[in-house]
Amino acid sequence: MKHYRDLAPSIRTIMTPGPVEVDPRVLRAMSLPILGQFDPEFTDIMNEMMEMLRLLFQTNNQWAFPIDGSSRSGIEAVLTSLIEPGDRVLIPIYGRFGNLLAEISERCGAEVLTMEQEWGSVFETDDIIAKIRETSPKLVAIVHGETSTGRMQPLAGIGAACREVEALFVVDAVATIGGTQVLTDEWMIDAVIGGTQKCLSVPSGMAPITYNSRAEAKLKRRKRVERGLRDASNEAIPEGVIIRSNYFDLSQLQDYWSPLRLNHHTEATSMLYALREGVRLVLQEGLDQRFARHQLHGEALVAGLEAMGLTLFGDPACKLPMVTCIHIPDGVDGEAVRSMLLLDFGIEIASSFGPLKGKIWRIGTMGFSGSKRNVLLTLGALEACMLRQGFKAAVGKAVQAAMDTYNRRNDNE
Ligand SMILES: *Cc1c(COP(=O)(O)O)cnc(C)c1O
Repeated sequence: MKHYRDLAPSIRTIMTPGPVEVDPRVLRAMSLPILGQFDPEFTDIMNEMMEMLRLLFQTNNQWAFPIDGSSRSGIEAVLTSLIEPGDRVLIPIYGRFGNLLAEISERCGAEVLTMEQEWGSVFETDDIIAKIRETSPKLVAIVHGETSTGRMQPLAGIGAACREVEALFVVDAVATIGGTQVLTDEWMIDAVIGGTQKCLSVPSGMAPITYNSRAEAKLKRRKRVERGLRDASNEAIPEGVIIRSNYFDLSQLQDYWSPLRLNHHTEATSMLYALREGVRLVLQEGLDQRFARHQLHGEALVAGLEAMGLTLFGDPACKLPMVTCIHIPDGVDGEAVRSMLLLDFGIEIASSFGPLKGKIWRIGTMGFSGSKRNVLLTLGALEACMLRQGFKAAVGKAVQAAMDTYNRRNDNE
């Protein structure tokens, strides 16, 4: 028989927009003993998880729980459960993940209307609001932080416009949750999807979501009662209204997370431990402190890159604090630099997608990866790789500029 070596992944410095490095306490939590899914101890953990997620999403919503699967499983659960075939859905797109919202909505049978903004910028909220009033959609879905372009869309005001036309407002906050303000209630967002492997610094495999009573009303209308488990009184709901997916049926998932504890899937036990520990660390750090930390490391990185002589991609007014996009200079082989960073320094940075492929690099400073140590190491290593690639970097300036940023912050405190 073939001999398989034991699993021995290298220790990396991961400076991408996800997945990012994981706090050892989260990895440790994943190795704790398994509990049965109806064990009262496990029920306590599930209830506590919901409580902690409400704090994370800054919401009074009753419903806040994780979907088992990567972040897009949260997106798919929300859209599949809230979109009925034929519903008009408005999606403002300013990067790759807006396209994903449109694709999933199409698969749900929506009549998808899109607005497009050039990659590297975001929408004026007034333009989105005008479009909502003009088209009266049933649902509006938008990305808060576009990791593909490093931009962040302001959201205040859009939720109120959605309520005028009785539309549901859905936000993909996968990249921003735990890294910058996501004001679920204040921004009148009806359903929010977060991610684990970005600013929460938990491995990929779950997607925390929250939704309010407006969204829940839609679920109630579409609820299908499982044959044989409960009486089938409302099984006669019209064809097309039934939520098509079993795995992503929020009405059933809600019953599983509610005191009813109606069996749905088997909760991903070890992932739940990881998420609980990850969110516990977020709350222990404090949301405001954590957002300030993400802002600081983003600023230090930018100072270093600019001092090196590199130019940033995109409109600085809407930069995502924890993702920095850089133009790959002419004459520099972007992939050669990335592979040198990885193989010689153990540092990973990201390339990009679609129209930006080969044109920009993206560096993340998210969660546990967002540290002074990582930022300084990355700048020093990148400078070395750039010099090897023949780029006339302003030698020795990058790390110093970042250190100056950190020192100024300390002086102000
Ligand atoms: C990473 C990301 C996703 C997709 O996450 P997966 O975990 O890969 O499914 C969706 N939206 C945004 C904004 C992201 O940054």
